[in-house]
Parts: sequence; C-alpha cells; structure tokens
Amino acid sequence: MVTESVITTGLRDTIRGRLITPAEPDYDTARRVWNGMIDRRPSHIVEAANVGDIAPVIEISRSSGRPLAIRGGGHNVAGNGTVDDGIVLDLGRLNGIDVDPEARLVRVGAGARLADVDAATEPFGLAVPIGTVSGTGIAGLTLGGGVGWLTRRYGLTIDNLVSAEVVLATGDRVIASPTEHPDLFWGLRGGGGNFGVVSSFTFRAHPLNPDVFAGTLIYELPRWTEALMSFANLAPDLPDDLTCMITFMVPPPVSELGDRVLMFLGFAWAGTDRIEGEAVVGRIQAACLPDVAVLEPTRWIAFQSALDPMLSKGVRAYWRNASFERVDAPMIDTLVEWCGSQTWFGTAADLHHMGGVYGRVGEDDTAFPTRSAQYWLNIYGYWPAPADDDSMSGWVRGLSDAMAPYAIAGQYINFLGQDAANAGVKAIAAYGPAKLERLTLIKRRYDPENVFRINHNIPPG
Ligand SMILES: Cc1cc2nc3c(=O)[nH]c(=O)nc-3n(C[C@H](O)[C@H](O)[C@H](O)COP(=O)(O)OP(=O)(O)OC[C@H]3O[C@@H](n4cnc5c(N)ncnc54)[C@H](O)[C@@H]3O)c2cc1C
Repeated sequence: MVTESVITTGLRDTIRGRLITPAEPDYDTARRVWNGMIDRRPSHIVEAANVGDIAPVIEISRSSGRPLAIRGGGHNVAGNGTVDDGIVLDLGRLNGIDVDPEARLVRVGAGARLADVDAATEPFGLAVPIGTVSGTGIAGLTLGGGVGWLTRRYGLTIDNLVSAEVVLATGDRVIASPTEHPDLFWGLRGGGGNFGVVSSFTFRAHPLNPDVFAGTLIYELPRWTEALMSFANLAPDLPDDLTCMITFMVPPPVSELGDRVLMFLGFAWAGTDRIEGEAVVGRIQAACLPDVAVLEPTRWIAFQSALDPMLSKGVRAYWRNASFERVDAPMIDTLVEWCGSQTWFGTAADLHHMGGVYGRVGEDDTAFPTRSAQYWLNIYGYWPAPADDDSMSGWVRGLSDAMAPYAIAGQYINFLGQDAANAGVKAIAAYGPAKLERLTLIKRRYDPENVFRINHNIPPG
C-alpha cells in the first residue's frame, strides 16, 4: 500500500502546478464542484500548470491505485469532477484559446469554460456550437456531446470537433482525428472521459452575427397544451436555422415575472437573414399567441449567459434526461400535469427541439446515441436547502418515470444525475448494446486497467 506521504512527495517532485492537500487552508474551496450535493474529500488536488503535468499524475494514480478524477469546469451533475480518497487532476488553468479566423478553426484548452470560447470567437463574428450556461466546462460538455442554441443549425459540439490532443493512460500524447487514432476519435465524441485526458480540442467555428435574433415567448399555464400542440404541428417544417428550447419553471424571484409557473419558448436564429427569422418566429406566435413576447435585439454573449444566475455554483442538483421521436397529446398531458405542479423555484424541465443538422449526422458516425430523437427532455432540480433534497429530487424522478413510456432508447450522459454515475450500470441504457460493445473495445485498447473510471464508466470488460 502506497502511503499518503509517498503520493504527496511523488506529486510535489514531478508537477509544475499547485498541489492542494487537506492541510491547505483553501482545501474546502478547491474540493467543491458545481453540484452542492457532492461533498467528496479527495486526498490530493493537482491544479495542472501545463500539459506536462498530466502524465505524472496519471502515473502516480496508476502506481498507487488511488482513483483519479479529471476536472474541467467541475459542472458534472453526477460529481465526476471529484472523488473521495483519490487524486483530482484539475485542468482549469489550461484554458488558452487560439482562433484562426481564416480557417475558422478554434483550439481550446481543456480547462476553458463556455464563456471563454464565446468571448474568443465573437470578435471574429464566429461561434462554436456549445451549451447554454456560460460557466460549464468545455471538456466535459464536449466529451458527452454538447447541446445548445445552435444544435439544429450546426449539430452538437462533437459534430464540430476536428481533433483532440489526448494524454493516454500510458502517459503518451496522441492526436485523435479522422486520420489519427480514428477509433479513439469516434469514442471521444460521446463516450465521455473514458479513454484518456484531453488536453485540448480543435473545433470548427461558424459565422454568427454577434447581435443575434433570439428571444422568448412566454405562456401562462392554461395555454400550455394549446401552445405545445401548435409547436409540435409546426416543428417538422421549421428551418434548421431556428433552434428552440421550451422551459417549464417558476422563474427565480429576480425575474419580475412573479412566482407562478410559466412556459418559456426560447429560440435562437442562426441564419443571416433576420427578416426571414422574424417571419418564422411569427408563424409560431400566430399559431398560439404568447402572453408575453421578449424579442429585443440580443448580444450573443449575453444570451449565452442569460441562464447563469439561476444555476450558480453550490446549488444542490439532481438531473435526468430522455429522448423522444414526437410530442403528442398524451405526452403533452403528462408534461403539463407534472410541470404545472411546480410551486417554487428549484426545479425545471427543458424540452429541446432537436432534428436539423443534429439528426442528419449518421447514427454510427460518433459514439453519441439517438440521432433519431426529435426532442430531448432535460429534467433538473437546483435548490439551495438540504431539507428539500428528497422532495426536489423526488419531483425529478417522478416526471422522469411518468415520461418513460413515451421515450425512445438512449440517454444523454451529460444530463444524468448521481444514481446513473457508477460502474457502467447505466451505460447500456445510454448507448445501447451495439455502441457499448464498440466503446468497450476502444476502452480495452486505450485504458485496459480502467484508470479513467470516475465518469459514466464503460468498464473494459
Ligand atoms: C448549470 C449547467 C448547465 C449545463 N448546460 C448544458 C448545456 O447547455 N448543454 C449541454 O450539452 N450540457 C450542459 N450541461 C451538462 C454538462 O455538459 C456536463 O455537466 C459536463 O459534464 C460538464 O463538464 P465540466 O468539464 O464542467 O465537468 P467536470 O465535472 O469537470 O467533468 C465532467 C466529466 O468529464 C470528464 N472530463 C473533464 N475534463 C476532461 C478532460 N480534459 N479529459 C477527459 N475527461 C474529462 C471527467 O471524466 C468527468 O467525469 C450543463 C451542466 C450544468 C451544471
């Protein structure tokens, strides 16, 4: 058995970054991740200073048998950015970004947050398709998939991944791309952090006006059924340029919208012709007039961080997710009954309209499951008080169970909470048997000892 002090000395002697042990005054701050329900106590936290720090940390974890958690932005809802009695490799300082506007390529360090990516690309009138809350880490988001306001126009974040630099369990540094280690490249796009530590990603960026046409149509509870039905009828004909996300929630007190439950039909138009975008959104409004329409000009960066205050670090969180091929009357009844019962800020559900470019990527082109999904439902709790743990997570489970009869196979690992996190128990549900088998072969090749297991794990067999 390798003792604590041997590991501490080994890390101190080999890394350039900072080592934080429980003796340090800021240990409690350093060990915290976004989800306040996760209260783990790592034995060592390494804040990597550069890519060279990654291999020694992997080696010390392997030789000591201590579990290793890789942390990008620390936003993983299941808490996979930390571990009890193990080593956390925090890549937060590796957050450099290089934009090549001519080639429309963006190289992003694995510690960057989504806000960093948007801030770097906006001056060039470019955007990488990423998520909707700016503090989320690019690494975990990308490795799971990456859904956001540009998904129907440009696909998931992984659909725009050109290559990744990866440090393997052996300590070797490799490039994964369509031509180099293509099996690894396939697995990284949806398979999570199972195969190695990604030190940087290179993405394809797309032209996007920094002042986007984006906004929200707001509906009072008695009109939800009509609004959802009319949206479902229009949805198959909506252009790829429009991505919509329908949120059911009681807004936070700061919003001035009162404390009753509302339905927010949010949208972003990725097209160059704003008049055309207004006409398309006008069709949604005409089919079911919203009680309030918020359609002011929006700065892309502001829109990308509009949800931030609601989902700040330290809230207690439990999430679930499911995919659907259609929205129909029985499903709407269930959604309205459950979502309409929310009484106070702390839970919500997002119905993402998928399809478009996302749906035209071949099912076997990436490890990501369910390209046939036309809708995703992300059900999430985010509440401040431990006393509400049971009731809030109970609501999330209840809606998830009630929607299960309408769902199709496949789940988004990035929207799964704690109970789906361990030992590959749910991997079969997320990926299905064929993809899981292919992922398992890749795992066996790149990480046969399962060094990278603090994630939605694919056991090597
Ligand atoms: C408030 C909030 C908003 C969100 N919004 C969206 C959204 O709009 N769209 C969306 O698709 N998802 C969204 N998510 C889900 C998000 O994609 C996942 O929680 C994701 O895991 C976060 O990545 P992270 O780097 O911040 O997490 P971390 O906790 O740091 O890491 C998560 C996992 O990724 C792995 N990992 C991290 N870095 C690396 C690396 N460099 N190499 C290898 N493995 C690594 C680790 O194994 C770990 O298991 C949101 C989550 C939150 C909490």
